Amino acid sequence: MRDAAQLSSRIPVNLFRTMKKYKNDLILFGALLMVFFAVIIWNLFTAKPGGFVEVKVDGELITAFPLSNNIEYEINGINNGKNILIVRDGEAWIESASCPDGLCVNMGHIRNTGASVICLPNKVVIEIVGDATDDASVDIEVGQ
Ligand SMILES: [Zn+2]
Repeated sequence: MRDAAQLSSRIPVNLFRTMKKYKNDLILFGALLMVFFAVIIWNLFTAKPGGFVEVKVDGELITAFPLSNNIEYEINGINNGKNILIVRDGEAWIESASCPDGLCVNMGHIRNTGASVICLPNKVVIEIVGDATDDASVDIEVGQ
């Protein structure tokens, strides 16, 4: 109830009355939200090999590669930053990078869906998506 009291001090009284009226709906919504997060957490802990690695720079999807391929790709990060992405044997990693901290290189190899390597200085993110058991028909949207 402490949260509700804090909330009521910030929002118009009418809205609070409306919220009380729909209290059951809010409880249902809260329950759905919890299920939603439970699914996300479940996915985080049930590691499964991914199908693709996505490359994002400054939040924008640049490209994606199937993990079944062996590639070496130079990612152009912001401020002329460079990250060398390697995909081999179902794994992806940053082999080398121009960033001063080198954290992205130290984060090592990723292979499971949802795993990612982030290079903050270059604003580069590589993330494993999809499922290794998916066939090549998985839709990967590149660009806008
Ligand atoms: Zn880095």
